[in-house]
Amino acid sequence: MTENAAPRYICFLCKRKFASAALLTKHKQLSELHRRNLTKQEEENQQRKEELRQAVAAVKRQVQEVDVALSKLETPEEARGRGRMRRALVPMMRTSTL
Ligand SMILES: [Zn+2]
Repeated sequence: MTENAAPRYICFLCKRKFASAALLTKHKQLSELHRRNLTKQEEENQQRKEELRQAVAAVKRQVQEVDVALSKLETPEEARGRGRMRRALVPMMRTSTL
């Protein structure tokens, strides 16, 4: 067995190594550093989610604006084509919010 195959007990959040699973568990349960990093990570995740939500809302607004601008110019035949394009775009935007 090589040394690389030996089990490692690492907290990736705090970038710390531990000698055993018990110590790693204890770290996750009791460490003040771990608690702080966990809170920080959750805040960052929330912030990223909010940024994504706003980005999606901005794209939707742009689509609506383009829609309005186009509707003033296009023929009925073009309007039908635009409807098809919107139906193709909207599901893509929904998946990007996840
Ligand atoms: Zn940790």
